[in-house]
Amino acid sequence: MNQIHHYLNGRIVQGGSDRFGLVYNPATGEQSAEVALASADETREAVRLADEAFATWSKVTPLKRSRILFKFKALVEAHADELARLISQEHGKVFSDAKGEVTRGLEVVEFACGIPHLQKGEHSMNVGTGVDSYSMMQPLGVCAGISPFNFPAMVPMWMFPIALACGNTFVMKPSEKNPSTPMRLAELLKEAGLPDGVFNVVNGDKEAVDVLLTDERVEAVSFVGSTPIAEYIYATGSAHGKRVQALGGAKNHMVIMPDADLDQAVGALMGAAYGSAGERCMAISVAVPVGEETASRLREKLVAELDKLRVGPGLVDGPDNDMGPLVTREHLEKVRGYIQTGVDEGAELVVDGREATIEGAGDGFFLGGSLFDHVKPGMRIHSEEIFGPVLAIARAASFDEAVSMINAHEFGNGTAIFTRDGDAARQYCEQIQVGMVGVNVPIPVPMAFHSFGGWKRSLFGPLHMHGPDGVRFNTRMKTITQRWPSGIREETNHFTMPTH
Ligand code: NAD
Repeated sequence: MNQIHHYLNGRIVQGGSDRFGLVYNPATGEQSAEVALASADETREAVRLADEAFATWSKVTPLKRSRILFKFKALVEAHADELARLISQEHGKVFSDAKGEVTRGLEVVEFACGIPHLQKGEHSMNVGTGVDSYSMMQPLGVCAGISPFNFPAMVPMWMFPIALACGNTFVMKPSEKNPSTPMRLAELLKEAGLPDGVFNVVNGDKEAVDVLLTDERVEAVSFVGSTPIAEYIYATGSAHGKRVQALGGAKNHMVIMPDADLDQAVGALMGAAYGSAGERCMAISVAVPVGEETASRLREKLVAELDKLRVGPGLVDGPDNDMGPLVTREHLEKVRGYIQTGVDEGAELVVDGREATIEGAGDGFFLGGSLFDHVKPGMRIHSEEIFGPVLAIARAASFDEAVSMINAHEFGNGTAIFTRDGDAARQYCEQIQVGMVGVNVPIPVPMAFHSFGGWKRSLFGPLHMHGPDGVRFNTRMKTITQRWPSGIREETNHFTMPTH
């Protein structure tokens, strides 16, 4: 059996805990590897190595750090197909989608390459006569990242490129469901010239995470995953004096106004709801058509499109499928359970993905696309995150009703409105209580030079991930006020508040 271990101090290190997690190929249902789950002591050793490496890495000039990241970017580009195959083998998503994920991660590396500019700080000359003020954005120390299964390349790359660029060292704890891609990224970082110990990968579960949350040498923790764990991470890390940004779950609504181009909206909705088998934190899981006529036409078009949805393995000879399997059998059963819950709650199951015939499915964790209509707030299939290929239609009588429904939801990650009316779009952007909003854009994931983050129970912590917030999160500000007067000794002492 293929074994996956840890990456410490620039090399693969055998796990010694005798605890292993199982890694599957979701397309075949077979176990493909076992991954070592680190003990607390092994995790502390990773933190120690990163702490030791900080002394020299933090002194490397931003320009030199940036040049290493430039080389890393070129290596990731050169290995993009290999990385995408690894992602698909352990996650299940289709190859083109996996390559898209690599590209979105790479964009953060490109942003981080600009660190000499990003980390300049601010400067004001003559804040008082002969007095200048400037800020330094200094690295924090050891930073930790804990990532989910659904983006094994992109989410780690939301975290470590900026942290490293800012002069921090890093301990990455990837999802134990698909750890191979972050391990490969660690090797590519070394090949790019990153000194040993600056980036380490500890594979593991709660035992490793708890060390990262409590060890006093860790300064900052970035987390992406489900809301209950995000809440725990934020509370525990903060209680131990760390900066924490913890991104949680989602339930993303797309409002379709009566004047929207319905074909465009349906095309966008299909990709946003069923792409990556719905296992995206920015997936649209609820369509909110405004008005009965919009709802009926939308439903009819969605049913026709679902009939054409190509579900199958992520790696095939020839054109890609639209959607691959779910990540594990356990998750498949959970999503199937939600479909049954929706039926029991009285929603109308228009298309049942459980009945789909999927060619080449074998023992893989496949499920067809499902569509519910007449879903209402209060139903569990509306209030809870399903994280599978299940789209709900929740009808609204008016724009205001659609906005109220979304604002009342506990999650506030992403949302979209499809309309031709600029005023409706503008009102929507202003009123909606959600962190990332698309106008005729179904999955409004901000580019790397903006920051990514939701509102409400989709994000715990004040700062969003990557972009300008990423630089702020990964640095500590120091503000210097200085003057170089001649004859300072002749001045009298000041006992009042300085006002320059
Ligand atoms: P998860 O919360 O189960 O796991 C995330 C990470 O937390 C993993 O590394 C896991 O090992 C660790 N973990 C799990 N249980 C833990 C515990 N009890 N204590 C400490 N650590 C623990 O999430 P997942 O199933 O891997 O990923 C799917 C979830 O991630 C969805 O809820 C999705 O919405 C969310 N997500 C959110 C975003 C976002 O940007 N908001 C992005 C991607 C995924």
